[in-house]
Amino acid sequence: MKIKLGCIADDFTGATDLANNLVRSGMRVVQTIGVPTSPLAADVDAVVVALKSRTIPAAEAIAQSLEALRWLQAQGAEQIYFKYCSTFDSTPEGNIGPVTEALMDALGCDFTIATPAFPDNGRTVFKGYLFAGNVLLNESGMQNHPLTPMTDPNLVRVMQAQTKRKVGLIDYKTVALGEAAIRERIAALRAEGVGVAVVDATSNDDLLLLGPALKDMPLVTAGSGVAIGLPANWGLKPSQQASQLPAARGLQAVVSGSCSLATNAQVAHFKASGRPALAINPASLMHGQSDAVVQQVLAWAAPLLKDGPVLVYSTAEPDAVKAVQAQLGVAEAGALVEHALAAVARGLVDLGVQQLVVAGGETSGACVQALGIAQLQIGPQIDPGVPWCHAPSSSGGVHITLKSGNFGTEDFFSKAFGVLR
Ligand code: ADP
Repeated sequence: MKIKLGCIADDFTGATDLANNLVRSGMRVVQTIGVPTSPLAADVDAVVVALKSRTIPAAEAIAQSLEALRWLQAQGAEQIYFKYCSTFDSTPEGNIGPVTEALMDALGCDFTIATPAFPDNGRTVFKGYLFAGNVLLNESGMQNHPLTPMTDPNLVRVMQAQTKRKVGLIDYKTVALGEAAIRERIAALRAEGVGVAVVDATSNDDLLLLGPALKDMPLVTAGSGVAIGLPANWGLKPSQQASQLPAARGLQAVVSGSCSLATNAQVAHFKASGRPALAINPASLMHGQSDAVVQQVLAWAAPLLKDGPVLVYSTAEPDAVKAVQAQLGVAEAGALVEHALAAVARGLVDLGVQQLVVAGGETSGACVQALGIAQLQIGPQIDPGVPWCHAPSSSGGVHITLKSGNFGTEDFFSKAFGVLR
């Protein structure tokens, strides 16, 4: 089993986003949680190693990325893809630049691209400037991000501040002319001593024109958008087969710890449809009561599961969340709830649940960890950016979908199970 494309993603939901794009373009994909210690569980075209390296110190991000690279190379990866956020989330110190350079050094590669363009999600690059929706990056709210404030929308400047290699631009006019022109421009930039080129892309057509020109590049660095143009380089076409998972079995449940607008609407919709739902009040988890509460929740769910999906949620409106945070502290409230919901997920699987919807990015991380999941095969998309996944195990495995906060339509929780049927 040799893989074609080996990917390193700097966060968990970003990894799923990339995997989803690759599957939709015809690749069979496994996402791993961290660098695997076990061999690959399925025969696939690409592996996305999900790290949590976006905002850790640069030296650590480099070490983890290089470890991922070595594992991917051992699986036979012919090309490496370093995936970061479509808003180029980074600080002047990194980690996009330092990790890119370290991967280039390790691969003996003197030229790569850098483009976060993801037109399907409104992220476009024009003359090197990154737009989020209709506004420049630094007017999009990203200028106020708590960890990675983005105050300069010019990606050539942003990237140049993070790397010793010279940064250049392949602009929209060149991209529009297609593979030969892009290759010519790459040769010219190389001759000027440029090592990293930001690439314009304002539509999926641009990304599909770019793909063939990347065929022999050992390293590609990008958001998830560039991925749509790569599978064709191996003769792969979009197909149902790429997203095929084992047949779904077992009971169904939803665990929701996201408090975002979309998730609140999804919880309300599920309850309105008459399905059983139980709220966990974060205050009830204090003073060592968490285990008892989890047991009560599981006792409530046990007799209901045979009749269809149940929902367990801590999802609440902003005012209620603020009140709890004031009482417990933001970090403590988050950790208490994540821990309890992860234990509920574990308990539900022990009760026979094999189709599990999890809402919330951090909540997903906690649940995946509690379930001991190390590898996920990526299946069909439920809504943009949210695919079903399958985690194999000796007991038949679990179908799981990890929905980050604002993704999904209002009927997501019930619609999801329909997609598996
Ligand atoms: P999202 O993807 O919407 O950001 P996350 O799961 O990443 O969702 O983050 C939600 C955070 O809020 C988690 O840390 C979760 O434990 C916490 N949380 C969930 N419910 C509540 C609540 N009712 N009060 C306070 N914090 C909560």
